Amino acid sequence: MAHVEVDQDTCISDQVCAATAPEIFEMRDDGKAHVIEGKEEVEGEELEMAREAEAACPVDCITVEE
Ligand code: SF4
Repeated sequence: MAHVEVDQDTCISDQVCAATAPEIFEMRDDGKAHVIEGKEEVEGEELEMAREAEAACPVDCITVEE
């Protein structure tokens, strides 16, 4: 299991994470990416997707910690 977080203060709203891992990240009314409710802890395929998004985020504001 790994914990997924987005630092909304750093997020530049380019939607890369929501496009890369739409089952884990969503854009909300504040214009920022958020972890979808219930997806804060991921494993297996979802963990891989979260890591892909973490690597793709241009400002490194996604953290995936095991
Ligand atoms: S990829 Fe990073 S900067 Fe882009 S929307 Fe997601 S969290 Fe924000």
